[in-house]
Amino acid sequence: MSQNSHMLDTPIEFLKGVGPQRAETLQKELHIFSYRDLLELYPFRYVDKTCFHKISQLRPDLADVQIVGKIVRIKEEGVGRKKRLKAIFEDETSSMELVWFKGVSWIKKSLKIQEEIVVFGKPTLFKRTFSISHPELETLEAHKKSLVTAMQGVYPSTEKLVAKSLHSKGIAKLMHELLVQVDSCIPETLSLEIRKEYKLISKRDAILNVHFPKSEEFLAQAHRRLKFEEFFFIQLAMLKMKRHKKQVNLSYPFTNIGEHFNEFYKEQLSFELTGAQKRVLKEIRMDVASGKQMNRLVQGDVGSGKTIVALMVMLMAKDNDFQACLMAPTEILATQHFQGLQEMVEAVGMKMALLTGSTKVARRREIHQALESGELDILVGTHALLEDKVKYKNLGMAIVDEQHRFGVAQRSKMWKKNQRPPHILVMTATPIPRTLAMTVYGDLDISVIDELPPGRKPISTLHRTDKHRLSMFHFLKQEIEKGRQVYIVYPLIEESQTLDYKDLMDGYESICRHFPRPQFQVSVVHGRMKSEDKEAEMARFVKGETHIMVATTVIEVGVNVPNASVMVIESSERFGLSQLHQLRGRVGRGAEQSYCILMSGHKLSPDAKFRLKTMVQTQNGFEIADADLKLRGPGDIMGTRQSGLLNLKLGDLVKDSKILQYARKIAIDVLEQDPDLTRDENRLIYKEYMRAHHDKMQWSSIS
Ligand code: ADP
Ligand code: MG
Repeated sequence: MSQNSHMLDTPIEFLKGVGPQRAETLQKELHIFSYRDLLELYPFRYVDKTCFHKISQLRPDLADVQIVGKIVRIKEEGVGRKKRLKAIFEDETSSMELVWFKGVSWIKKSLKIQEEIVVFGKPTLFKRTFSISHPELETLEAHKKSLVTAMQGVYPSTEKLVAKSLHSKGIAKLMHELLVQVDSCIPETLSLEIRKEYKLISKRDAILNVHFPKSEEFLAQAHRRLKFEEFFFIQLAMLKMKRHKKQVNLSYPFTNIGEHFNEFYKEQLSFELTGAQKRVLKEIRMDVASGKQMNRLVQGDVGSGKTIVALMVMLMAKDNDFQACLMAPTEILATQHFQGLQEMVEAVGMKMALLTGSTKVARRREIHQALESGELDILVGTHALLEDKVKYKNLGMAIVDEQHRFGVAQRSKMWKKNQRPPHILVMTATPIPRTLAMTVYGDLDISVIDELPPGRKPISTLHRTDKHRLSMFHFLKQEIEKGRQVYIVYPLIEESQTLDYKDLMDGYESICRHFPRPQFQVSVVHGRMKSEDKEAEMARFVKGETHIMVATTVIEVGVNVPNASVMVIESSERFGLSQLHQLRGRVGRGAEQSYCILMSGHKLSPDAKFRLKTMVQTQNGFEIADADLKLRGPGDIMGTRQSGLLNLKLGDLVKDSKILQYARKIAIDVLEQDPDLTRDENRLIYKEYMRAHHDKMQWSSIS
């Protein structure tokens, strides 16, 4: 490590103006431990410090504003912990309030009446009066002097930081101090070749300009450079990991396509595989024949037919004398997989068992034995498959369905179930936009089933509010009379199980009133039920004994009841897009016209409106995923948080996808020419890679 990088590793405490107490708060609130951490705390937006608002022009939707005016009066309200300070602040157009809840007496002393000041903060509207709480204040004099650049960064801050005077401006002050100190020590991390080719400014210029931009143009350059770097090193790490896996992890070559596979294909399969299914099977076949371990993700929208692909892959294992397992996230789903596959598996003379948390001890023992002796060919189940007691004679293929429910650590347990790690196939119905998939699953190979089996009718999707409830019930009756079945789903309220349960039960009672026995049979499944009871209720619905299934989102993943043709989603505004899409995918599985009815309140937030509108407009999982990504940002997309790799500071996977693709291409080029980064021109890259990514990557030599 050079002198320079030592400098950036200095604990933040030692920066002038920080000290132990502020350091502790910076650590706790923003994870800033070192000079480098602070340097990488980038402004999340910029304000034009030459631009001022008038009080009469304020709107509640404005972000931070600057106003020039005077404090005309100060008053204290409340007592004890509820004490607050209010200042009446005026400009020539109107008046508003400034409010402080903390440090009241200290702030009171510092406020000067009738002096011209600049107030900075986010205005909120309450009872027709605008106010700013804990504003930043500066005399107009000081403001004019401190105006280094017109564009000023706004830094993230929190209540606790503000209490230590580390609001945005306080942080900017520290940043200024830091930059003065480390200016000449900011190390370059990219080679000159790359910088030249892509016209990237130096790291130092980028850092200076991202914090104190000389102009908008400089800021744009700084962002471009820093985003490129961010994507580049993530991609580099991913690609290195992928190469590493391919080299190191020998697995079992499946060289035969034999009797089980062929017999099934010719005799048992009752439909023609779609082109996409065939293509994916071919990709998998190439992988497993190679001798290296397969680590493949199959993405396929709900209903695209992943299960049959999984089965055929397990037949490939059998043809090469290996066992296979299929793991699902819930008991209901595991059971359904088991029941759905059993007949086909037996028809080709193979043996399969189901192992879940509720498998009885005696049966469990039988299964363990049959697995170890090799009598069992396929094991289907839940997390129970991961237990140490579950030992195989010769596991060659592990399939994980609906991957987003599993953590990385859990998947890694599968690796240990044989001497060499088995091939791993992960199946997910959460469509992930390509750019994102590349970044999140950069270490997995990806196959996409992008075609639905023929003859599927589009699901007619409607958005309705409470005033349509009776006509909605009427419609359900008509459908049930035609012989169809109906789901009615209530949201899971994570913060309050009680509320959750109450909503569901109120709904259930009202449905029972409108759909009286014996003409109608209503099932209910919720999180408080014992799993046997859930299974039993679910089974009744699957068999067609009940007409309506009232449930919380337990049915979200994977259940297959082709006769169910209506999905009613209550309080649909409370669901995320990908969940709504998954739920809708529960219908439209049979030959009948299917419906999805999104019930919601009357008043909707703009986001909720957008979500429901998207659902009504499109059924394409990838379009929905794109919309979801735009709405929520990548950090929230299911399954990406756990990857831990998407801690992007600046880059936006949607808006900056061009830069991302470019960075990926360059990372590929660099590694192709210099896999170990030992060449002189890649010295800087190597150094940064080792510093930033080496440690982080250790854990993820698993998938
Ligand atoms: P998912 O991808 O959501 O897991 P499934 O595997 O449950 O989807 O398949 C949904 C339904 O489509 C099943 O009933 C399955 O038998 C049927 N299916 C799968 N592939 C085809 C195909 N190529 N042609 C016709 N039906 C198919
Ligand atoms: Mg499925």
